[in-house]
Amino acid sequence: MVIMSNVTCPVCGSLCDDIELTVKNNIITEVKNACAIGAAKFLTYNDHRPQNPQIRKNGELVNVTLNEAIRKSAEILLDADYPILYGWSSTSCEAIRAGLKLAEDIGGVIDNTSTICHGPSILAIQDVGLSGSTLGQLRHRADLVIYWGCNPWSAHPRHIERYSAFSDGRFQESTYYRYFKRLTANSISKKMLRVTPRAFERSISSPPSIDQRIPYTLSREERKLIVVDVRKTRTAEIADYFIQVEPNRDYELLQAFRALIRNEVLEVDEVAGIPVEILEEVADIMVGCRLGVIFFGLGLTMSMGKHRNIDSAISLTRDLNRRTKFLIMPMRGHFNVTGANTVFTWQSGYPFAVDYSRGYPRYNPGETSIIDILCRGESDAGLIIASDPVANFPKKAVTHLVNNPLIVIDPHTSPTSLMADVVIPSTFVGIETEGIAYRMDHIPLPMKKIVDGPNGFLSDAEILTRITREVHMLREI
Ligand code: SF4
Repeated sequence: MVIMSNVTCPVCGSLCDDIELTVKNNIITEVKNACAIGAAKFLTYNDHRPQNPQIRKNGELVNVTLNEAIRKSAEILLDADYPILYGWSSTSCEAIRAGLKLAEDIGGVIDNTSTICHGPSILAIQDVGLSGSTLGQLRHRADLVIYWGCNPWSAHPRHIERYSAFSDGRFQESTYYRYFKRLTANSISKKMLRVTPRAFERSISSPPSIDQRIPYTLSREERKLIVVDVRKTRTAEIADYFIQVEPNRDYELLQAFRALIRNEVLEVDEVAGIPVEILEEVADIMVGCRLGVIFFGLGLTMSMGKHRNIDSAISLTRDLNRRTKFLIMPMRGHFNVTGANTVFTWQSGYPFAVDYSRGYPRYNPGETSIIDILCRGESDAGLIIASDPVANFPKKAVTHLVNNPLIVIDPHTSPTSLMADVVIPSTFVGIETEGIAYRMDHIPLPMKKIVDGPNGFLSDAEILTRITREVHMLREI
């Protein structure tokens, strides 16, 4: 039995690096410190995975050798005039580097999953910059945490505990006990609400109205948590204050806060469904904090306004920095989507949607981004790695993707791999293969090899390097 400590979790962009694993006979038997999602990955990663490389023959996927699958992949990519290479956010930086080399060699378009998540954030950051920091700084110093359009309690379950409201920083105490007291009080009041109508033989015709008053806890000299979202999520339930913005009206709300912070008067009664008096009080709390941070998610990047929302959120942070210290950070989803943007930028100068078809990198999201290329029906082959576009892309894009030769490199069986012409199973990064990944605050962390992968399975980086070598060999024949 071996105990491995300080393991980095290969699931979400929080990249928790304090996981402890017990390994017996090359099997992970126990996981400590991980959330339910991380623990499930370590304990069940081996279920439902393809056992052999496969090639589609006469409409059926049949088992072949790795060499055959690699040769077939090289032939498909060489025959194509405008191949696309997509995915990259759930693999290592080493694999991403190898993929960029392959894309350049075959003159393809390479794009990563930020094209459908935080692409608008990147566009806004390119326009107006970003006041950022490491998560460590925020853990120790932030006394006002705002989660806007994101639900870390469900999507990044340890983010709140490790880096924000529930973390015990050097200069800021955890608010967990305050939350625990509120939780107990809430559960008592819910029980009372359930019991009271029965006692008086009345029925509840409508839910209790939402209390919009600012709670007294927000005026205390302690760390505070505010959530802005269109619905009351699990994260909103633990917050000191929840602002329920009307759908697609985040931009107006952000601009209203900007005006209030510049001491301008709003000549309306409400903005995005929130009374102006409430907004004034929240603006005062923002200005009054010592160090505030806005963590934002897809509720902001993918609602109406897209990169203009982020532009406005960053501008709000900039305005706040005239009065106090304020930072902003995107909540990145896949464990190495930040690494994908970083490695793309080192190699090509651009963070996603890079087109090498003219022999040099071109970047024009909307034209060179994968969904747009697929919807215009321009590509003639695809290589998908560590991603499942068939389950996520619009129908028109999926139809074009699967109507052309398709190569999938993935440790999982997915809807995309079931539609592919070549399937090459790989080892899991951070479990069966080591590598580097970037946390959401751009800190690179090592992913460890914990157990051996199945016999004959290669890592994503090795598979891509072998396909590139095969492409060179075929060109010389
Ligand atoms: Fe893994 Fe994310 Fe959970 Fe941390 S929060 S243990 S990185 S899934």
